[in-house]
Amino acid sequence: SPSRSSVIIVGAGISGIAAAKVLAENGVEDLVILEASDRVGGRICKESFGGVTVELGAGWIAGVGGQQPNPIWELAAQFELRTCFSDYSNARYNIYDRSGNIIPSEIAADSYKKAVDSAIQKLRNQEEEEEEAYGDDHCNNNIKNSETKLPSTPETPIELAIDFILHDFEMAEVEPISTYVDFGEREFLVADERGYDYLLYKMAEEFLFTSEGRILDNRLKLNKVVRELQYSKSGVTVKTEDGFVYEANYVILSVSIGVLQSDLLAFNPTLPRWKLDAIEKCDVMVYTKIFLKFPYKFWPSGPDKEFFIYAHERRGYYTFWQHMENAYPGSNMLVVTLTNEESKRVEAQADEETLREAMAVLRDMFGPNIPNAIDILVPRWWNNRFQRGSYSNYPIISNHKLFHNIKAPVGRIFFTGEHTSERFNGYVHGGYLAGEALIFQVCIANG
Ligand code: FAD
Repeated sequence: SPSRSSVIIVGAGISGIAAAKVLAENGVEDLVILEASDRVGGRICKESFGGVTVELGAGWIAGVGGQQPNPIWELAAQFELRTCFSDYSNARYNIYDRSGNIIPSEIAADSYKKAVDSAIQKLRNQEEEEEEAYGDDHCNNNIKNSETKLPSTPETPIELAIDFILHDFEMAEVEPISTYVDFGEREFLVADERGYDYLLYKMAEEFLFTSEGRILDNRLKLNKVVRELQYSKSGVTVKTEDGFVYEANYVILSVSIGVLQSDLLAFNPTLPRWKLDAIEKCDVMVYTKIFLKFPYKFWPSGPDKEFFIYAHERRGYYTFWQHMENAYPGSNMLVVTLTNEESKRVEAQADEETLREAMAVLRDMFGPNIPNAIDILVPRWWNNRFQRGSYSNYPIISNHKLFHNIKAPVGRIFFTGEHTSERFNGYVHGGYLAGEALIFQVCIANG
């Protein structure tokens, strides 16, 4: 019969590793980490491309420079991760129309202000509706407004482009985002050849056996796809796709909300209704960074030109661009970010087609004579069955109960992951803090 450990952690992303580390620090060392893929890191994932290390998943340490220290920023400082400051504020002055003209700065600034005002208005209206519907029983209802005005709907390419960056990129002007409120408004791009996941490795070094940059501890089991969790009052039995069975007193489940929504995991008995409802209600955001390598640089460089925007009549169509000259000088690389439906669309087509589309957009902006990209990298977070999306996206005005239920344990199964962080969901530090905080739940359960 399988040997029984105290705790099984499913998933070796930032939250799973953080949970394991705190458990080990508190004397729970007979733990097993089951990871479906062949590496640690999950949505922190580097790849070598065009001569440099690029981050297919999390790229920034978001929330730096404020009153409280961001734990990920502290780790990055401790382990001397190479980062560079990202200044998004200039992006709105680098908006190109389809004829390659840069929108004059007064017009851009004006459109930006209008979009922010309209978004704030929309939020207020929603809050009032919620208040009428539910009374005072939800958070975020501190903005009061006496008259309900209709927010304007973005229609022109420039309005659509601004709407896209405001909403799909969570610009802090519209709503108070806890990450920026607590940790500060600055963001730093990780540009380190060792990768963002170097931080996870350094964390693992403190409690797992490692040698020459590799984790060799047999409590970490890679390529173990959990398919079934059978739980009772006395313990949990976990079955993996390759037919192995593991037993433990408790399980910590760190898989993404997208995985929980999919049918990868079977629970026996099935999860209670309140849990299934909460999982169903949480939206999954798809966010795709497409990397393009060129024989030489043809775009304007300089820190104030790092981010630029393409205004097209289709919302989110190759809208948001970044050059990599600040991060990796001489890399001749651009990154374009797509989200949601556009992400799913390009995931489903051949990369050559995506390359053609991106080149047509670049020729709109920079003219017909620019060189073709010599390589392209298209991550597929949506079609990855161990991810099913990029991060959780709670409704802006969300019910406190939803978080509570997403996070709440079911019998001997605990839930962690970025989606269980009420203040910081969607971020690396959210995953980290959620994993770290689990020790309390486990200790209480353990008596
Ligand atoms: P994960 O990293 O997903 O870890 C869960 C692990 O569980 C994975 O390793 C997975 O393989 C494993 N798993 C899944 N199913 C099973 C199974 N059945 N059996 C065993 N193992 C399983 N955050 C930021 O702070 N800054 C950013 O700039 C940023 N940008 C992002 C860009 C992209 C494209 C993406 C995808 C994410 C980004 N994020 C960013 C979000 C951040 O990456 C996540 O919030 C965080 O890494 C999630 O960590 P986690 O431990 O909760 O989940």
